[in-house]
Amino acid sequence: MSNQYTFQTNLLHNKHKFDPATGGVSVPIQHASTFHQNDIDTFGKYDYSRSGNPTREALEEVIAELEEGCRGFAFSSGMAAISTAFLLLSKDDHVVISEDVYGGTFRMVSQVLIRFGISHTFVDMTDLEAIKQAIQPNTKLFYVETPSNPLLKVTDIKAVSDLAKSHGALTFVDNTFLTPAIQKPLALGADIVLHSATKFLSGHSDVVAGLAVVKDPALAERLYFLQNSFGAVLGVQDAWLVLRGLKTLHVRLEHSVLAAERLANFFKEHPLVSKVYYPGLADHPQYDIQRTQASSAGAVLSFELKNEAVFRTFVENVKIPVFAVSLGAVESILSYPAKMSHAAMPEEERAQRGITNSLLRLSVGLENPEDLIKDFSEALDKVKQ
Ligand SMILES: *Cc1c(COP(=O)(O)O)cnc(C)c1O
Repeated sequence: MSNQYTFQTNLLHNKHKFDPATGGVSVPIQHASTFHQNDIDTFGKYDYSRSGNPTREALEEVIAELEEGCRGFAFSSGMAAISTAFLLLSKDDHVVISEDVYGGTFRMVSQVLIRFGISHTFVDMTDLEAIKQAIQPNTKLFYVETPSNPLLKVTDIKAVSDLAKSHGALTFVDNTFLTPAIQKPLALGADIVLHSATKFLSGHSDVVAGLAVVKDPALAERLYFLQNSFGAVLGVQDAWLVLRGLKTLHVRLEHSVLAAERLANFFKEHPLVSKVYYPGLADHPQYDIQRTQASSAGAVLSFELKNEAVFRTFVENVKIPVFAVSLGAVESILSYPAKMSHAAMPEEERAQRGITNSLLRLSVGLENPEDLIKDFSEALDKVKQ
């Protein structure tokens, strides 16, 4: 395939730049669930769309190339991709996993896998010693999300992958927050990259989708077996939407990252903001690791307002961002982790991790950052001093 260009150009000029049958410059949506076979003895490439579909396959090939893996898989949601990948494990296996992992992953690992005899230890993945302490003889998987949610803690992907290899374990990385435009976990030693393509990859808050990319062909064959066995495949319309969103991934992120950097600095300077979490700020504890393993700090940041009264005034008066769960869209999205992504976590445990009732997460979209800064300034000006 065409790795001859830079990432930005490869988004457009890849194997699927036009349909070889017609020259159409958009991947055709193949709705067929089944495929006519011409020969009794040898079937064609496709037989049934759960097992293989050309539209889904186009997306799978494009993401595999962008993540520099050997094979990609498209699922009906990020959680479908993540839970199918976890099914590579067996009874009595153990997982070492980021303590501030995505809420859905936390729930699946702690409430579903446990019933099948797969145990886990949540650790602060920024602390290599803590990870080493958590390793057990049956540890088969290191599961990393970096930067983490919502506190944007950064894990050293190469260090964790090396550690995993020395224990004969696999490393999975959830790359939803940065995408291969910014960070390529397989090149850093990970075995599988996972995505909620619902977020930056599709980018328009209009599709729910998941992706997995595998580095090793034998492992890819095992994941394909699971994708086909559990059947949580992505529908063709949705595969097409992700393919379309991907074409603008580079240009969207380029804008949003620059805007996020400006906003991080704006919040950092503001007297009513007590903390800013963004791995692009020089005082972020893992600033250097982020710079080494990724080309930028991404377009998501979190910030804590001085107290709950300031928080309320801000949220009530801010006008531009949508106030919602999710991230990675053309419009800026303001989320409230305590009541949204981390609502299931007891308040005490949340506070202990820094997820206070005054913490907000901002996914920066494509608005002019000047308008966002003006909006946020005016909302904060409403606070009675
Ligand atoms: C949203 C998200 C998921 C889950 O993806 P869905 O598409 O909602 O199933 C997993 N990981 C991260 C980091 C996410 O932000």
